[in-house]
Amino acid sequence: MECYRIKTSRDDDDDATYTTSGSVRGCCGHRHRTLGAAVACLRRDQDGCASQGGYSDRDIIRSDGNPLTEGERFGIDEIFDRLWKMH
Ligand SMILES: [Zn+2]
Repeated sequence: MECYRIKTSRDDDDDATYTTSGSVRGCCGHRHRTLGAAVACLRRDQDGCASQGGYSDRDIIRSDGNPLTEGERFGIDEIFDRLWKMH
C-alpha cells in the first residue's frame, strides 16, 4: 500500500496531512487532517498491538513525504503528554 503520494504540480492542496507508517506494521492508509487525529490513530494501533503482546513500530509522517517540522514534532509531543496525563 502506498503510504503517501508525491505532490504533483496539479495538486494545489497546501494543507498538510499526516499518516502513520512503520516497516513492520506498514501504514494506516489514512490522510489525517490534524496531528491529533494521527496521534489517536497511532495510539489505537499501539493498543491493538499491545493487546496481542506486540508493539507498533509506526511513526507519524507527513503525507506529502516531507519531514515533520520542529513545530509539528513539538505538537505531537504535547498531544502525547496530554494523553498521558489523562490516565
Ligand atoms: Zn491512520
